[in-house]
Amino acid sequence: MTTTEISQKPTFWYTVNLITFYEDTFLLNLIDSHCHLNFNQFKSDRELVLARATEAGITCFINPAVDLTTSREALALAHRYPNVYAAVGFHPYSADKVNDETLAILADIAQDENVVAIGEIGLDFYRDRTSKSDQYRAFESQLTLAQNLDLPVIIHQRDAAEDTMSILKTTEVSKTSAVLHAYSGNIAVEEVVSLGFYMGIGGPITFKNAKGFPDIVATIPLNRLIVETDSPFLSPHPLRGKRNEPE
Ligand SMILES: [Zn+2]
Repeated sequence: MTTTEISQKPTFWYTVNLITFYEDTFLLNLIDSHCHLNFNQFKSDRELVLARATEAGITCFINPAVDLTTSREALALAHRYPNVYAAVGFHPYSADKVNDETLAILADIAQDENVVAIGEIGLDFYRDRTSKSDQYRAFESQLTLAQNLDLPVIIHQRDAAEDTMSILKTTEVSKTSAVLHAYSGNIAVEEVVSLGFYMGIGGPITFKNAKGFPDIVATIPLNRLIVETDSPFLSPHPLRGKRNEPE
């Protein structure tokens, strides 16, 4: 059995290939498309966390960033570990940090071959940590950057589904694609699919209050569904609230 296919550099098109067929057998190819390995919660035992996940069958890890510091940290981890890749960008909580200077630095970091996406970027009106105008500006300028660099985007969206989708529709991001991280079912599956985007599914599907969500997820075409943990956050039930691991 060949494993060459699972050791190649992942792209989002590639990560959705959960199952690699080979002759009459197949490999389950599990990639954690969203884990914050750079965060402090993993500072003391990151090697162990990665070893446990690898043992459990995770072949690759994509570490998204939330600002410039974490973009650099994510890239450093991607350089240190062969199966870790970075996504770089400013989360909506850091939207006020986006200016010409920081965007230029981000553009520079994003050209490293270990960077596979721009993210996580988007809109968050649930917690008003930054102004809406800053969030729109940061989101749009990073979408432009992603298109210029021909990179997909990882979208964080909370209480801002309509605005997020209308901004995405005005961009050319469909050419490079997008994953709706922590997809919660509040945007129709058909709409996401018709735009050529992906849905990131993780721990919340197991939550007691998930109600009809598992039924919605069941309607997502498998080639549009991406596995993610959002570690160290969003632990599945019954571990909800505890540190999450890619394992
Ligand atoms: Zn995240």
